[in-house]
Amino acid sequence: MKQVMLCAISSLSCGICDEDCAYCTQNKNSDVKIKRYKIKSPDEVVAEAKMASANHALGFCLVTSGVGLDDKKTEDVARIAHAVSAECPDLMLIACNGLASKEQLAELKKAGVFSYNHNLETSREFYHKICTTHSWDERYQTNLNAKEIGLELCCGGIYGLGESKEDRISMRKSLAKLNPFSSPINFFINVDGLKITPDSLSVDEAFGIIKDSVKALPNTRIMIAAGRESLFKQRQYEIFNHGVSAIVLGDYLTTKGESMSRDIAELKARGFEFVTKCH
Ligand code: SF4
Repeated sequence: MKQVMLCAISSLSCGICDEDCAYCTQNKNSDVKIKRYKIKSPDEVVAEAKMASANHALGFCLVTSGVGLDDKKTEDVARIAHAVSAECPDLMLIACNGLASKEQLAELKKAGVFSYNHNLETSREFYHKICTTHSWDERYQTNLNAKEIGLELCCGGIYGLGESKEDRISMRKSLAKLNPFSSPINFFINVDGLKITPDSLSVDEAFGIIKDSVKALPNTRIMIAAGRESLFKQRQYEIFNHGVSAIVLGDYLTTKGESMSRDIAELKARGFEFVTKCH
């Protein structure tokens, strides 16, 4: 039986970031109209987690806006992680909170977090073209920190930011060194108000990127995240013909995703069963 792992996202805080990541709707220079808020209540996140679990999600990712963790944010995420674990013990919790020290990550692990998501986004060589307020090396180090304290890694990147083919190869080599448990591929979604001149990727080019990622990361679960619906459109379920074994279910941080019910129906019709355990 073919299997697919489903992961849903909760945007715990949104649009309150001082960084200048050019691809991100939450960056301080973007004019994108998004809902901005400091922190959701645990009850609100638990309701989202229950909805995700009822729709066969195994992963549930707690995402915060901003460059990284501080003491207050670590406490907030840990509190919410405890609340979700208590109500939805079958969900595997992922945290995605930017740059983080080993101590902060250890607190999240104690609160029941299983995996840390911190994407490299692009190559080390290209990173300064899309962000000047923090470095690629800091991102890489956060992944090493997560690994060192025993969190599983979820680490990938974005394609279509204007990077070269060499940049793509370089990012995949860096990802291979980290050997993450899962690796999300995002295809850049251009939104009015972002100050970036992106590439427009063709569907066949994107399928090629998926195949190259599967080849470069043979031990890693390759996940398709943002851009699945907008890039592949009616061909979106063909991604599974190229080695994809996980997708993001529901909405992304500030953009709409496919409806959960359509994804579930389409996957069942194609003979997929849903992964219920990570190991
Ligand atoms: S640090 Fe994160 S939230 Fe802030 S602009 Fe960059 S990607 Fe967006």
